[in-house]
This record gives sequence, C-alpha cells and structure tokens, in this order.
Amino acid sequence: MTPDLLEQGAKRYEARIAALDAARLNTVAGGQTASYGRLVQSGEVDVTHGRILYLEDVSVSFDGFKAINKLSLDIAPGELRCIIGPNGAGKTTMMDIITGKTRPDEGTVFFGSTIDLLRHSEPEIAQLGIGRKFQKPTVFESQTVHDNLLLALNVDHSVKGTLFWRGSKAESERIDKVLETIRLTEARDRLAGSLSHGQKQWLEIGMLLMQDPKLLLLDEPFEGLAPAVVQELFTVFDRLRREVSIVIVEHNLDLVLALADRVYALERGAVFHEGPAEPLLTDLDYRKKILWL
Ligand code: ADP
Ligand code: MG
Repeated sequence: MTPDLLEQGAKRYEARIAALDAARLNTVAGGQTASYGRLVQSGEVDVTHGRILYLEDVSVSFDGFKAINKLSLDIAPGELRCIIGPNGAGKTTMMDIITGKTRPDEGTVFFGSTIDLLRHSEPEIAQLGIGRKFQKPTVFESQTVHDNLLLALNVDHSVKGTLFWRGSKAESERIDKVLETIRLTEARDRLAGSLSHGQKQWLEIGMLLMQDPKLLLLDEPFEGLAPAVVQELFTVFDRLRREVSIVIVEHNLDLVLALADRVYALERGAVFHEGPAEPLLTDLDYRKKILWL
C-alpha cells in the first residue's frame, strides 16, 4: 500500500471516529440524533489502536480437554466478522470467555486497548457495551414487542410496572428507532409469542440494541430461518454494521461469503485460517478439516 493510501485510510478513520463522537455527544445533549446513543452511560472504549476486541493465547480446559487452545484474534471497530468452524471447535466457548461466563485458564482478553475483560463480571461486561445473543431466541413471549424492547433497557421498569409505563421521550424515540431497524414497527403491539421464529430472532437483536452495545456477539443467528427471512436479516445487518462492531458465529459458508469480508476459521479451539473465506471453498486441505462441507 502506498503512503498516500495509508494516509487517506488514516484520515477516513479519524473522520469516522469524529462523526461517532459527535453523534454520541448529540445524544447525551438532546437524544435527537439518528444514531444509537446511550441512555445508560458507560465508560468509553479506547479503539485508537484499531481494535475493539483482542484475544491473545487464550486457553481453557474442561476436565483435561482443551476446548480453547492458545486462541488469538482481534476485531476492528465497525467491522462485521464471521467466525466459522465445525461443531465442537470452541466457538460458543469463545463467546462465553469474552462475555465473562467462562474464565480462561490463561491468556489475555481486552475490550479496546484499556479494558481487561478478565477483571470484570458477566453483568459488568454487558454494561460495558458487549451484547450477546445465544443460539436460541429468548424473548418474553407473553409481553408485546414494544414491552420486550422496553424491558431490555433494564432501568426501573419491572415486568408489572411496564403495564403502567408512559415512558420518557428519549426511551420511546429509541424504541421507535430500534423497531424500524429490526423491521417490527407494524408488530409493536403484538405478543412476542405470536411472532415467527425469524421475527423472534430480530426482536432479540433489537433487545440487545436497546442497550446500545459497541460490540455484538451473535451465535448462529440464521439458524432455522427460511431463505427469504435470511435475506431480510442481511439487510438488518447491513444497516447495523456501520454503527456497531459485529461478530457472527455461522457455519454455512455461503452465508459467510455473502456477509463478511474476512473470517476466522476455528478448529480444536484455535484459529487455522484468517482472511477472506474464499480459500475455504476451494482448498482440499480445508475441506478435509471442515467436516460441514
Ligand atoms: P462450538 O460452539 O464450536 O460447537 P463449543 O464451544 O460449544 O463448540 O464446545 C467446544 C468443546 O468444549 C466441546 O467439545 C464441548 O463439549 C466442550 N465444552 C464446552 N463447554 C463446556 C463445559 N461447560 N463443560 C465441559 N465441556 C464443555
Ligand atoms: Mg456453538
């Protein structure tokens, strides 16, 4: 890359950071911005070194079995990155470690360049701005779509209190914005239990967005979805990818190719390929390694 291009890249990065900062400041001042501003303030994440997430030589054993084995990877701010790998490769365990559910035996896990995630509890990590979606959608089936989003704010509203809630302007604007992003504006008063499987997946992503995450970790969000619904979820990610860093665990290579420029492929708890996913399609060695092909 020429120095010129490097300089242009650095300028674009600076402009993007300045725009993000401006959006956040506007939100704190008046809640009028179109961005996902924070209602619940938390410490800022230092991404000046070009990483929002950084793992180095992370290992964890369960009963002597190394589920994660010297795993190293990093995610850039604003990036959408896919993690692929066969069943049992350690993908979910990796997310458990990042979110504080599982403690590694050794290694380094940083959020930005200053926050050591191994020093934080699971609720603290969520509060710092890491949102996680598990493999199965977990929504409150007997509440409306709107109330599910409200409950996700997790401020003073109990399930019962929500019935009588009028809400602040900032909260209701935020709910409207999230409803639009997840394409459930029309369904706002429906019970979550009556939604399709795909809509429940979207609602759960919306519940994460209510907490204004800086990094989203999504474990197989396309599982069980019809192709047309997958396509719609793609458009949701396209809108989101500029506002939040996203890590998606997915083992369908076609989806991965369409979604992300770069992947990490895991096997036996470690990275065996980093970069574009294309080589995984054509290289016979990869095919042997990856049982799902
Ligand atoms: P993936 O999500 O890639 O399919 P997992 O991270 O779920 O893989 O699992 C990796 C390996 O670690 C598997 O062999 C699994 O059985 C094992 N494992 C994961 N969590 C635990 C646990 N809490 N206790 C014991 N073994 C576990
Ligand atoms: Mg898994």
